[in-house]
Amino acid sequence: MKSIYIEKPGTVRLAEIPDPPMEPRDVHVRVRYCGICGTDLGILSGDMGFVRSGLIRYPARIGHEWSGIVERVGPAVTMVRPGDRVIGDNSISCGECEHCRRGDYLKCTHRRGSVGTIRCWPGAFAEYMRMPEWHLHVLPDNISMEEAALTEPCTIAYNAVLMCRITGGETVLVLGTGAIGLAAVTIAKVFGAGKVIAVGRQEGKLAIAERMGADVVINSVKEDVLPAVLRETDGKGADCAVECSGAIGFVGQASELIAGKGIFALAGFYETTLDRFPIDDFVVKAQTLCGTIGHPGVLDAVVRLISERKLDVKPLITGVVPMEKGVEAFYEAAAGSSGRIKTLIEFNRE
Ligand SMILES: [Zn+2]
Ligand SMILES: [Zn+2]
Repeated sequence: MKSIYIEKPGTVRLAEIPDPPMEPRDVHVRVRYCGICGTDLGILSGDMGFVRSGLIRYPARIGHEWSGIVERVGPAVTMVRPGDRVIGDNSISCGECEHCRRGDYLKCTHRRGSVGTIRCWPGAFAEYMRMPEWHLHVLPDNISMEEAALTEPCTIAYNAVLMCRITGGETVLVLGTGAIGLAAVTIAKVFGAGKVIAVGRQEGKLAIAERMGADVVINSVKEDVLPAVLRETDGKGADCAVECSGAIGFVGQASELIAGKGIFALAGFYETTLDRFPIDDFVVKAQTLCGTIGHPGVLDAVVRLISERKLDVKPLITGVVPMEKGVEAFYEAAAGSSGRIKTLIEFNRE
């Protein structure tokens, strides 16, 4: 089969590799689409904490935002069958420890790695991938395979919004207008946010933020964000914020961007540290700063939102390219040309 992988920092390759092996409870999945994520571009550049710490090694079989169709199943598989349209969890559990035997895979003590990232389980930029049956989720009929490939980044947004503990009517600040930030705008509204303020650098993406439900948009290239947020919140700051931009400057201003008792959820990677951080401001204002990361427990919740048409992920798909043009698409995404949100690579036509 063919796979697109990072051979070494700076080099993407499309090459023939052996088919994945099959264990009795493994499922051989024919990949339909896989999206290019900022994490993939970090692995391509090599300039990334997980690379420096040795958690990601080369060659790296990346790809964790995927959808596919069950091609064949191992002899012990009972949960899916050929033809099922599926997506999968990111973190692969052992299937054998006491937690896994109870079906509590999140607590697995012998994780085998994350799909396409940390301690890399061979990822989905390939014609086929191998997944243990218990990590697959069968999709409802009314979700397209393109939409399904967007589920994973939306789980990051969903978790970040969950951390904000929205009860109704809050002003939510969303920093960043990539796929995660844009999804967070809609999800915050679904959770009952009163006013969503979206901050980004590109007019085109801010227009999509408005389509996704943002009440106010702030272009951080044209305007200083902190005074604009204070203006929009009667000088108090937002009730909560979801930081999806990866811009460390916003983290430094976190205590001012949110109100007293506010929550500031970090859903980006920053690859740097802050020298001067006003910790005591958080104490005095009883604010919360929290990190959040993808969590397999919410995959089905996101699928439901898309299926019920409460979350429209189609505006996030700004390009679909065939596998043969995938390497090019990677270098283009790494060069960061404007307007792109999510590029999907199509590995099989049906
Ligand atoms: Zn991702
Ligand atoms: Zn386990």
